[in-house]
Amino acid sequence: MKLNELTAHELHDLLVNKAISCRELTEAVFTRVEAVEEQVKAYLTLTRDVAMQQAAAVDEKLARGEAIGALEGIPVAIKDVLCTQGIRTTCASKILYNFIPPYDATVVQKMRAAGMVFIGKANMDEFAMGSSTENSAFFPTRNPWDLTTVPGGSSGGSAAAVAADECIVALGSDTGGSIRQPASFCGIVGLKPTYGRVSRYGLIAFASSLDQIGPMTKDVTDCALLMNIIAGHDPLDSTSLPQPVPDYTNSLVPDVKGLRIGVPKEYFAQGVEPAVAEAVRAAIDKLCELGATAEETSTPYAEYGLPTYYIIAPSEASSNLARYDGVQYGYRAADESDVITMLRKTRAEGFGHEVKHRIMIGTYALSSGYYDAYYLKASKVRTLIKQDFDRAFEKYDVLITPTSPTVAFKLGERTDDPLAMKLADVCTIPVNMAGLPGISIPCGFDKGLPIGLQIIGKALDEETLLRVAYTYEQATEWHKQKPRL
Ligand code: GLN
Repeated sequence: MKLNELTAHELHDLLVNKAISCRELTEAVFTRVEAVEEQVKAYLTLTRDVAMQQAAAVDEKLARGEAIGALEGIPVAIKDVLCTQGIRTTCASKILYNFIPPYDATVVQKMRAAGMVFIGKANMDEFAMGSSTENSAFFPTRNPWDLTTVPGGSSGGSAAAVAADECIVALGSDTGGSIRQPASFCGIVGLKPTYGRVSRYGLIAFASSLDQIGPMTKDVTDCALLMNIIAGHDPLDSTSLPQPVPDYTNSLVPDVKGLRIGVPKEYFAQGVEPAVAEAVRAAIDKLCELGATAEETSTPYAEYGLPTYYIIAPSEASSNLARYDGVQYGYRAADESDVITMLRKTRAEGFGHEVKHRIMIGTYALSSGYYDAYYLKASKVRTLIKQDFDRAFEKYDVLITPTSPTVAFKLGERTDDPLAMKLADVCTIPVNMAGLPGISIPCGFDKGLPIGLQIIGKALDEETLLRVAYTYEQATEWHKQKPRL
């Protein structure tokens, strides 16, 4: 196997034993990028110079005989929604096409401090709005399993980079499914932590009450390792939780004896492809063979997840995106005849179709006289969705559902059908609405394309999610499959 095909924990051993240098590893990743990037298009910006410097620092440390951290020297792809000091950060929008942040997002700063190697900034849907990465203002990313299909979204660049071995691990962000759904489409592991578990400081805001950053990796062990780096309270994000961070590698034990699994029937309803439902049910059977028990349950408010999300998320987005006006940074329209004209044209030319659509819906939903009917009502339904989960977790340790109702769809297939596009997140959105952690892991294939299994846990119980995911992974081979590019 080539170095870029290995996992972070495998590479760590090779680095520590001096079997390889970090420079060699980084070169292997860039060689792969050169070979496949023209087809996959996972990256918006490559940061070879930064990476080579970071790699050299790790090699020097190793040469001095110093110990290195678990992810020190590991190449990472960073979703372009995260601010990187001195490195262009576009959010896949024309309006930020030239934005070079003067500061790092907290998670980026933590990865720098941990000695990770930055390969580049990954493509995404503009402002993380979308499910296929086709809303990128620059170009769509393709799914390494089948280049005629989408990688999912909005973290499609991160997912494709991991699946195509164009990096070792990646970071994504998830507002309604944007880590888990592309992880599912690309056959990798993606974890959306509990809301507040990871600092959002320096994450370009989409819907602030839903956004969360998380790991996208080749296996569950790497996911736990990356969580160890990024989780924790941050005084710069007042919504980050003050609870202590466990060592997530303690959860890497193959043991589900006595685990109670709830299987909410609403997630297997109409629209779920039979092959997906079958693979997920087979995975649940597997966990039962390994000592868990499973039972069908019901979370009746789940069906309101999608409609309420599409009030709450655009409302928050309309407010968050008000800051892009062409004055201090980013794109500015050429017509500066007066400030209102400049502002109007900047926003008209700088934002793409989907973003404008959401700003308009959100502005409407928040406007005086409509606020109670839309945003307030949606917030109340959100509480009902959360209470559904609370009830379920009185009886079960985890809930298991498909991550997405289908496998990856064709490029262009849903771009003219916004409802079909949005249905790709029907299983993931309720989890964000309730602020809970959810992980997607590979559990099978249909038509040669990966299927994802979603495990949902109690707030701050990422440990159980990782344990269940690890147990399943150790008993199966899905995660070892690679696309043939
Ligand atoms: N696809 C959903 C949307 O378009 C979720 C996106 C996300 O999680 N960032 O809003």
